[in-house]
Amino acid sequence: MIKHQCRETEPLLSGYLDGELTQGDRQRIELILDECSICAKNFEEMKQLCQQVGGMEYKKMTASEKDRLSEEVTGAASASVGQILLLGGVLLLYGTGAVYLVMALIRDSEAPLFVRLGLPAVLLGVGILFVTVLTQRIKASKTDRYKNVRL
Ligand SMILES: [Zn+2]
Repeated sequence: MIKHQCRETEPLLSGYLDGELTQGDRQRIELILDECSICAKNFEEMKQLCQQVGGMEYKKMTASEKDRLSEEVTGAASASVGQILLLGGVLLLYGTGAVYLVMALIRDSEAPLFVRLGLPAVLLGVGILFVTVLTQRIKASKTDRYKNVRL
């Protein structure tokens, strides 16, 4: 029987559990655990408590991590659906409106020449600008997503 004080051995038990003991202390603890049922019981309880706390923290972490990830994915998906709907609607309205306006102008021979030429030019210009900005925005959002993945 190794001479020891069970109460004084407890800090060493937790050190043994964490793998923080020196070679000599480790061997001593292993001998104590073999021979002293009180210390062995203490060590078992310590080990179980440590596993439970560790397991709980791990589960909590992965759960919040999962929530965060799914929120990000859902947010990104609904944002792109909203963008697509908005842009589609704007394009449809703008395109159709522009065509109607230009057709009406062409039919209306009373309209001055600078309006009949100027307005279609303005509409075409705005349309080209819109598509250019849109293309840049899409490229930028793809780059952002790539950055997020890398982070
Ligand atoms: Zn003991």
